[in-house]
Amino acid sequence: MKISDIEVYPLSLPMKQDYHIAGGSVGDQQKRAPHVYVKITSDTEEEGWGEARPSHRWSYETLESAVTTLNNYIKPILIEENAEDLQKIHKKMDRQIASGLAIGQPIAKAAVDMALHDLIGKHRKQSLTSLWGGMPKKNINLSYLISTSDPEKAFAKAKYAKEQGYLGVDVKIGLNPKQDAAILEAVKEAAPELFFRTDANQCYNLPQAVQLSKKMEQIGIDVFEQPLPAEDLKGHAELRRKVNIPIALDESIWGPGNLLQALRLEACDLVVIKTTKMGGLRKARLCGEIAREANIGLLGGGLTDSSLGLMASAHLFNYLDIDTPVDLNGPMFLEDDPVENGPQIDGGNVELSCGYGIGCWVDMDKLIAFSV
Ligand SMILES: [Mg+2]
Repeated sequence: MKISDIEVYPLSLPMKQDYHIAGGSVGDQQKRAPHVYVKITSDTEEEGWGEARPSHRWSYETLESAVTTLNNYIKPILIEENAEDLQKIHKKMDRQIASGLAIGQPIAKAAVDMALHDLIGKHRKQSLTSLWGGMPKKNINLSYLISTSDPEKAFAKAKYAKEQGYLGVDVKIGLNPKQDAAILEAVKEAAPELFFRTDANQCYNLPQAVQLSKKMEQIGIDVFEQPLPAEDLKGHAELRRKVNIPIALDESIWGPGNLLQALRLEACDLVVIKTTKMGGLRKARLCGEIAREANIGLLGGGLTDSSLGLMASAHLFNYLDIDTPVDLNGPMFLEDDPVENGPQIDGGNVELSCGYGIGCWVDMDKLIAFSV
């Protein structure tokens, strides 16, 4: 089965609410959300769909860079290639857009990887999980994302999460560092039994992180994610030696190379698997399997992906047997997307459609309506 065409659709999806992390705004209701959908067609006249969700405050990729990379650099080298030879396709993409400290433009490449997985699954009449030799599961649990610098609002949101049946919360800190401890205490008070993950998105230095970790241990927080800047693996290793709270790495781990360095330095207790930042399902799955073999914990996350990316990641997280609620928070922030037969979301519980490939379809009329 050869690749006969790659179509790139830059989209602007409506948002329900703004979204801030320590580095600034990563979602603006007024400006809508940048997503890039990719459709790959084969010479067998089958198609697969993938998604990129660039966020320039989270990493260097933008809607514009994803579109020009895909159209001008990736598409020309992949036409006529065997769609089922993912190893060769990734090798070609990585040679074309070379790596720096991380995989070069992983978010753009992830859309191609996702679309090819979808295409191969549909062609072979298998779900993603079956392609990987696993048993498909029909649901996944989401964590509820809390991102505010007001402890009262944090309390109300945690209470809401509990009432809606969420099994975990993911609390962004560092928006106003002076309020961090009060926010964490408020969330714990409102929902003491929920799995409690907190994410600093790189905003502290080592002494600050040590101090805050000790406070977190008293409050009873389960995981402290990405306290220090991404490149500071040694700092994270030192933090681990000084505190007892499990440390997770997200922005530090873009692929298997970073993960192996982190393991050598004993810099983390858990790693955050994200399909998009890791250049697609293939490398994200490899990272998950390396971490498993190294006895490192796994957390699941996303970059406010729409239903398409959420479904692809959910299948991967189920395959990897991630047993804590995952931070696939697109449904909390996106008002609508062009996906048909997508996941059925009820609070923190997501029922996945178990069709072939990713298991959903794209409504072309809606896609065109959301195009920019
Ligand atoms: Mg994170």
